[in-house]
Amino acid sequence: MVTRPCACLDVFVYLVVAGPSMPDQQYDIVVIGGGIVGLSTALHVIRRFPRLRLLLVEKEAGVARHQSGHNSGVIHSGIYYQPGSLKARLCVEGAAAMVAFCREHNLPYQICGKLIVATSNDEISRLQSLFERGQTNGIAGLKMLSAEQFRELEPHCGGIRGLHVPSTGITDYATVCNKYAELIVAQGGSVRTGAEVKKIVVHGETRVIETSAGPFQTRYLINCAGLQSDRISQMAGREPDVMIVPFRGEYYDLVPERRHLVRGLIYPVPDPRFPFLGVHLTRRIHGGVDAGPNAVLAFKREGYRRANLSVRDVAGMLAYPGFWRMAAKYGRFGAAEFYRSVNKAAFVGALQKLVPEIADCDLISDGSGVRAQAVGRDGSLVDDFQFGRSQNILHVCNVPSPAATASLPIGREIARMAQEAFGLG
Ligand SMILES: Cc1cc2nc3c(=O)[nH]c(=O)nc-3n(C[C@H](O)[C@H](O)[C@H](O)COP(=O)(O)OP(=O)(O)OC[C@H]3O[C@@H](n4cnc5c(N)ncnc54)[C@H](O)[C@@H]3O)c2cc1C
Repeated sequence: MVTRPCACLDVFVYLVVAGPSMPDQQYDIVVIGGGIVGLSTALHVIRRFPRLRLLLVEKEAGVARHQSGHNSGVIHSGIYYQPGSLKARLCVEGAAAMVAFCREHNLPYQICGKLIVATSNDEISRLQSLFERGQTNGIAGLKMLSAEQFRELEPHCGGIRGLHVPSTGITDYATVCNKYAELIVAQGGSVRTGAEVKKIVVHGETRVIETSAGPFQTRYLINCAGLQSDRISQMAGREPDVMIVPFRGEYYDLVPERRHLVRGLIYPVPDPRFPFLGVHLTRRIHGGVDAGPNAVLAFKREGYRRANLSVRDVAGMLAYPGFWRMAAKYGRFGAAEFYRSVNKAAFVGALQKLVPEIADCDLISDGSGVRAQAVGRDGSLVDDFQFGRSQNILHVCNVPSPAATASLPIGREIARMAQEAFGLG
């Protein structure tokens, strides 16, 4: 099942994150976005500069209501990413930090390991390249396995060759976010939910952040608004180099009687031309097995259902030259994902390559998440984490998966950038 904060958690969030009231509404630094990246950033900033008056604003009624609460819950090892990239470096470090954080705060996690499975001969060389990349990225314990060997780990798995990644784990990132929020407040920062940023007005050295919960004044700003981050950049007077294009990832849940078919995590060999990993089978930390997510172009940035459409979001995409270039480059891939979205048999077919015994009737539709994918003007899908800066503002431009895994070092890096850019200290 896809992680969603539950109603009882909402009450908890409201009580814990409201924070001390600030009668003058004046802050030194405001972080926009109560997802895992904004929360980790705020936590690192307030820990590094405890005397700063820090406020995090979130438009929803609680934290982790978008990507950070609608994901697969995987603590990625870092095997997939280009050696030397920010993703590779911060994911490997972040995975260890996330496990340590969960352990320290008694949050649920499990190191269940992952099996990446080649199902055809042409995938074997790509699997071998992934193995070598993982070794270059410093991931311990990787093993190439024959079908006979990997069936000892996953007895129902099909395929002809496997790569075992023993350090991959699972957790619940919505719970992690709530803990980050609690720690920010404990450290003296404030977290204000139900405060949607509508306008940013510059008055000399001060910025007035106009929100649905009233105005806040601040000197410095950090934009961690996920699916809306390019719009916040525009509000702040910076024309972003990229546009956020939403890709919905739809999940099915394996019915309880068939969950024994999957012990840990089973993934296909990813297509190196795309940043998405392909539909996979993921054991969830609170029980159950998810199948998915696919990657379908969404017609609304926060559109969790196929029928959701926003005229503003669609018009924005169609007016962006990078969108058309992306469509020309990746049209075939997009069409195949769309077909798999509307045709359950095609979705099941993709899963059967991994676990042949899975049948249509074993899967129940189970929610979705929407990825914020930055697309360049040339139509490229920006792969690595990307940050930008304009006067007294830092912008988090692209933090797709594995940003939940890497959230602790990402927050630390942004706090360091803030120190440099804003001259804090
Ligand atoms: C389907 C799916 C599966 C994934 N699986 C994994 C995984 O297994 N492992 C992993 O490491 N990563 C995974 N990811 C990626 C990971 O979830 C994201 O990279 C991460 O959550 C991004 O965090 P964020 O804080 O940038 O964005 P978000 O969580 O989207 O947070 C942004 C916040 O900004 C707020 N906001 C926006 N506009 C405003 C405004 N105007 N005013 C105030 N607040 C505003 C939003 O409400 C939102 O809460 C997955 C993502 C998806 C979608």
